[in-house]
Amino acid sequence: MKIGVYPGSFDPITKGHLDIIERAAKVVDKLIIAVLDNSEKRPMFSTEERVELIKDATSYLSNIEVESFHGLTVDFAKQRGATVLVRGLRAVTDFDYELQIAQTNHKICPEIDTIFFTTSVEYSYLSSSIVKELAKYKGEIKDLVPANVCEAITQKYNGDK
Ligand code: ADP
Repeated sequence: MKIGVYPGSFDPITKGHLDIIERAAKVVDKLIIAVLDNSEKRPMFSTEERVELIKDATSYLSNIEVESFHGLTVDFAKQRGATVLVRGLRAVTDFDYELQIAQTNHKICPEIDTIFFTTSVEYSYLSSSIVKELAKYKGEIKDLVPANVCEAITQKYNGDK
């Protein structure tokens, strides 16, 4: 069974991430979405909230698991028996960073390879930061994130008042 791990912050998951997930889920038998438990960053959603939002947003896909992790991505991938890491590329600006991570991961763990999916063109500008920035100023985000995320962001901003 070919297992892939798609690691990221997913703060929050966007339709850009979802597009990568749907496509990656077709090329592996099982795709584990691995939410980085990055305590030193100040995320909008806690790790647990991010995991739940992704589980909800991907419930229509049958070969997806969602987990949080901390530490090295390759260590997590090895523990789960994965042989590929999945990442997305939006523009050349992603390339330098992604190349560096992929090469480092391959150096420390040659049995795991990274596969890249290029963004679908309608999501090439889309990032979690853009969604948060728009939401802060009450911009329209419903086309950018799954419906449950849209609801959670609205609640977060209304609740914070
Ligand atoms: P990280 O903090 O690890 O970059 P992100 O949640 O921002 O985590 O992104 C996870 C992965 O998804 C990265 O490989 C990123 O390039 C990719 N990604 C994010 N948004 C998009 C998008 N709109 N289209 C394609 N890939 C994307």
